[in-house]
Amino acid sequence: MVNSKIQAAEENLIHVYNRFPIALEYGDGMYLYDTEGKEYLDFAAGFAVCGLGYNNKELNEALKAQIDKICHISNLYYHVNCGEAAKELNRISGMDRVFFTNSGSEANEGALKAARRYAYTKKTGRFEFIAMEHSFHGRSFGAVSVTGHEAYREPFEPVLPGVRFAEFNNLDSVKALVNEKTCAIILEPLQGEGGIHPAKQEFMEGIRKICDENGILMICDEVQCGMGRTGSMFAWQDFGVKPDILTMAKAIGNGIPVGAFAMTQEVADFSLKPGDHGATYGGNPLSCAAVKKVIEIFEREDIVGHVKKTAPYLEKRLEEVAGEFEFVTGRRGKGFMQGLVFSRPVSEINLKTIEEGLLVIQAQGNVIRFLPPLIAEEKHIDEMIEKLRRALRKLQ
Ligand code: PMP
Repeated sequence: MVNSKIQAAEENLIHVYNRFPIALEYGDGMYLYDTEGKEYLDFAAGFAVCGLGYNNKELNEALKAQIDKICHISNLYYHVNCGEAAKELNRISGMDRVFFTNSGSEANEGALKAARRYAYTKKTGRFEFIAMEHSFHGRSFGAVSVTGHEAYREPFEPVLPGVRFAEFNNLDSVKALVNEKTCAIILEPLQGEGGIHPAKQEFMEGIRKICDENGILMICDEVQCGMGRTGSMFAWQDFGVKPDILTMAKAIGNGIPVGAFAMTQEVADFSLKPGDHGATYGGNPLSCAAVKKVIEIFEREDIVGHVKKTAPYLEKRLEEVAGEFEFVTGRRGKGFMQGLVFSRPVSEINLKTIEEGLLVIQAQGNVIRFLPPLIAEEKHIDEMIEKLRRALRKLQ
């Protein structure tokens, strides 16, 4: 199925993605268009990145204006965008100090280093990490070392030593691993790649208590579930359980590569010091122009309120589909981060939805994920359900 438009990619890239045989060219709002002009309703948002959808004119203008001034400076100098984006991100995430990265993996790398640095300053002798089964924190060495799914780690063993995995949503399993060497516990409040598993309220509260009682740091990875997706600005706010370190990426830049890790002042006081960490591109004027504008639009348009209001409709319609097909066994998720669980492998489903002009994403455990741009309205949900039904009927 290789056409001439994707031949260069086939012949020149390292093949680490199982790509579908379409080449996307442009986007508008909730829709993407391929090189043949075919339209796709997008319920993937570039992996939960494009919360504001595609081609947001106001964001485009802000980026163009920034490009005409300057895209990059070294972190040896200040640029107002970096400080202002940090101030805004701290305000909406409830944190005090932020470091900008270029991706989610890199945000998690920084968070792990910050936790180690905190233990080093305090001379606690703590250096181990507890992470969760089925978690996903990225592909770089530190991030993959705390990623629960073995298939991601095995070809690269030995990875970072001193990481142990607890059962997600099982506090006893976490308690059994905590000891005097535990430095931090890292988790996603709503697991994405692992198959859309929301944390339970008691679990989040229990982790916070374990951390407080033992001088351990709690790291929440909100790279996928953060920035409005669950119907709160950040998912920790759904639980009222604040982490010591929060990692973010994806939707904070709406497609301009930017990530961040943020911490409380208490952690910052004892953590990374000048010379301890850095990133050439991290927090450059262009990526920070994106963060500032994204936050401004999110708040003015009340994107979070829209997700909260519209998500019950998405849930209801997905449950209808779950009731119609014997191979769909249920729905789970929160806000605009939803999954349908299948009783059989889901690998063929993507090709069928593509035929129907719908983009969705697989997750582990026979799950199809629905991560639409956060601007999705009921009419888009209706269109998605119709296309999904048609795709699933072909598999019956
Ligand atoms: N953490 C989580 C929860 C993620 O979902 C992802 C990406 N899917 C990452 C980290 C890694 O982010 P990136 O691909 O930007 O490095």
